[in-house]
Amino acid sequence: MMAETEQTTTIEIEDMITVGTLAERLSIPVSRLIGELMKNGVMATVNERIDFDTAQIIVGELDLGLQLTKRQAAESDAPVHRKPEASAKAQSRPPVVAVMGHVDHGKTSLLDAIRGADVVKDEAGGITQHISAYQVQHGDRSITFLDTPGHEAFAAIREHGAMLTDIVIIVIAADDGVKPQTVEAIRFAKKAGVKIVVAANKMDKDGADINRLKQQLTEHELLTEEWGGDTIVLPVSAKTKAGIPELLDMILLVTDVEELKADYDVPARGLIIEAHLEQGRGPVATALVEAGSLKAGQFVVAGGTYAKVRNLESTDGRPIKQATPSTPAIVTGFKVLPEFGDEFTVAANEKEARQLAGGVATDRQAGSSRGDIGSGELIRLINRDNKLSELNIIVKADVQGSLTSVIDSLKALDTEEVSVRLVGSGVGAVSENDLHLAHSSGAIVYGFNVSLPTSARQQASRDKISVRLYKVIYELIDDVKEELTKLLSPEIVETELGRLVVKGIFKTTKTEIICGGEVTKGKLTAPALARVSRGDEQLMEVEVTGLKRGPADVKEVFEGEMCGMSLKTAKRLELQEGDRIELFTREAVQRQL
Ligand code: GDP
Repeated sequence: MMAETEQTTTIEIEDMITVGTLAERLSIPVSRLIGELMKNGVMATVNERIDFDTAQIIVGELDLGLQLTKRQAAESDAPVHRKPEASAKAQSRPPVVAVMGHVDHGKTSLLDAIRGADVVKDEAGGITQHISAYQVQHGDRSITFLDTPGHEAFAAIREHGAMLTDIVIIVIAADDGVKPQTVEAIRFAKKAGVKIVVAANKMDKDGADINRLKQQLTEHELLTEEWGGDTIVLPVSAKTKAGIPELLDMILLVTDVEELKADYDVPARGLIIEAHLEQGRGPVATALVEAGSLKAGQFVVAGGTYAKVRNLESTDGRPIKQATPSTPAIVTGFKVLPEFGDEFTVAANEKEARQLAGGVATDRQAGSSRGDIGSGELIRLINRDNKLSELNIIVKADVQGSLTSVIDSLKALDTEEVSVRLVGSGVGAVSENDLHLAHSSGAIVYGFNVSLPTSARQQASRDKISVRLYKVIYELIDDVKEELTKLLSPEIVETELGRLVVKGIFKTTKTEIICGGEVTKGKLTAPALARVSRGDEQLMEVEVTGLKRGPADVKEVFEGEMCGMSLKTAKRLELQEGDRIELFTREAVQRQL
């Protein structure tokens, strides 16, 4: 729950909050939060709870411009699955599908593979704009995909997704299995009440193991059909495109079972899912129609602004006559940029549109709380999540041509998390002006085929400004890349070691357990971390402090052997015979661009 204060955004949280939920509330990747906790000496897993004070310190460290307050009364934050009411005349509509999953498991590749299979790139060299949704044809039917991979999707799904999304594809790399963000995605999807289809991706890889993946899913209450459940797991490869047609078939099958319907002949309404300013076109928004048919020339009100729809286009830029339910459409003609998540409706005429928009705008100024995160706030959070860190730079080059190519190459380095911010650029030697600008903006100055005059050199050394001169373009780019890499938050990598099945418990205190059992998988080493589980339920994360074979302390024990184990626990845990202890290590690894 969020409420806007004058400058900072305040987020209410409970007295105790799990790391996963906190990351979710802050709209940051959970790995970033775990990384920050680690930096501050707190080793916590996604499911572990931290107290308010810890959360407050960490949020301060993250410097998100957010502030936490304690939630007073308990309240449910489960989103309501609100779909537009459909009348008896409603007809079937395409499903709206979002893709979620752990980083690097292939969400982007899968979306690309699906789109690539069906979208004809246009003559102008393909699609360069960021597309927030697109529709593909499969057979004679359409499927709408939300192209908001990663945490944008999380945020969008959480706040508006119950309205937006019918089906979530959870992408899991079959060679890697269920990971923290997979668990997060499953939780979101369940909470939003949407249908889940699991895509076991990277099946082309040697280490792919779909059975292990299915086994892991059972630990998160997703039972596959062959095990008596109703979770669909399909083997796919975004790389070879194997399994993609079957995945689309399955989505349509789920659509049929769900009987997704909407009215077509009512005034159009839906959500704004993307908006940006475009040179020559002004505010350009992508609207996802939920009901009715949106047409060019109509008056559309979204949030505090309105448009007489000037151009109506499909998301691949083709003019369309109308956008029917579940269709994303590009709309131009807005007076002011609407905001992500704004609901839109059609007004009868300009006067009504102006009045409706005016009302919303006044409400917004008065800071009226809609009881949930403001959509403006959300887009800011998403953008921040998107561009976690920026590298300020100034580029000077010998001629305009090389300046342009340096700048173009630098833009290509941007990722969802880090980006280059060009605070200045120009042709000619590095000047004292450039250095002033670098000083005030904390920028690095890059020169390509230019010199640094002596006076400027002295100024640079006095003000401790980094000026880097290159004669080879890719060396310059590599340098910037290296700087960007430093801005990436570390990736938290967990490595599985092995599993012990408990056969006996010898001592249990509040903070320590000594038990024994059989190694049923892998190799155990100590020290290590471990998850204790019973049946489907994960009980606690603990530390393994020692291993014994017979009376002797040992460093490692192998599959098939019996051993004794001492555990350090955060609170008392009544271990039982048959419980499983899965050992793993966790480290923070610098990621590469
Ligand atoms: P995202 O972070 O989930 O969006 O993952 P990406 O789509 O960026 O993919 C991460 C990496 O996995 C990239 O290097 C992809 O080329 C690779 N990848 C994705 N899908 C497949 C696949 O089906 N097979 C193989 N071999 N590699 C894949």
